[in-house]
Amino acid sequence: MRRAILILGAALAVIGPMLPAASAADKIHVVATIPDLKALTEEVGGNLAEVESLARGTQNAHEIEIRPSLMLKLRRADLLVENGLELDSWAEVAVQGANNSKIVRGAPGRVDVSHGVPVLDVPSTRVDRSMGDVHPLGNPHYSLDPGMAPIITQNIVDGLARFAPEHRATFEKNRQAFLARLDEAMARWTRALEPLKGARVVVYHPQWIYILTRFGLSQAATLEDRPGIPASPGHLTKVIRQMKEERIKVIIVEPWNDLKLATRVAEEAGAKAVVLASMVGGVKGADSYIGAIDHNVNALVMAMK
Ligand SMILES: [Zn+2]
Repeated sequence: MRRAILILGAALAVIGPMLPAASAADKIHVVATIPDLKALTEEVGGNLAEVESLARGTQNAHEIEIRPSLMLKLRRADLLVENGLELDSWAEVAVQGANNSKIVRGAPGRVDVSHGVPVLDVPSTRVDRSMGDVHPLGNPHYSLDPGMAPIITQNIVDGLARFAPEHRATFEKNRQAFLARLDEAMARWTRALEPLKGARVVVYHPQWIYILTRFGLSQAATLEDRPGIPASPGHLTKVIRQMKEERIKVIIVEPWNDLKLATRVAEEAGAKAVVLASMVGGVKGADSYIGAIDHNVNALVMAMK
């Protein structure tokens, strides 16, 4: 008997190191509202966390249909990582259907990563419906600006550490390793975009203001009349005239917006319409955080040549 136990012990000693650090059952279950935040939570959580996203990269993150499958994901969640600034307020409906007290608003498992972000496009007057879907708290599309990743990942470290304080040092180490890789990529992006400094671009939806500002480009106009309001013929005529006058070469289009219309406008103005990944996974090859920005920077450089 004793011999049998010894053998079993030896066998476990051999098998033990081969097991992953945490099995699926004891991983922290994180749900992120959008894939950018899933990608960043995976970087910070490493093999201690299992992360799912409610929205897919090709979707319009302002309007996600709440299906029972989303509520099911939230029911099992230890943490919900959200973008905030009202981009993903639809998640609230799913949370209410999920009946999970860990992630209700105000609970330690609710992580709003906009905390500390220097928000752009904050309306200076009172917002009303006539202005379209203006985001009253400011422009919520900050997640794919690499300069925001240090703030976002700090919020994620804090959220994960509220749930598993014993792993705070590991989360912080993972974060630092990711930010070091991001720094290298940042040097590459800065070099690539240096020649485009000062350039003005037209965008379909005002989704790009953070990354444009980061690298010294600017938004000249949007194809939407007002945010979230479809383009009208009169507005498009004005945009085409402006593009010709200012010799604007590019219209940035989100994967969920009307590429045909953008291409028609671009052709009339002697410019190009280019689809960029508005979120991780938005276009082919943009499947990681750094990969998505790589794609966007390269596509922009190519289109503006
Ligand atoms: Zn928006």
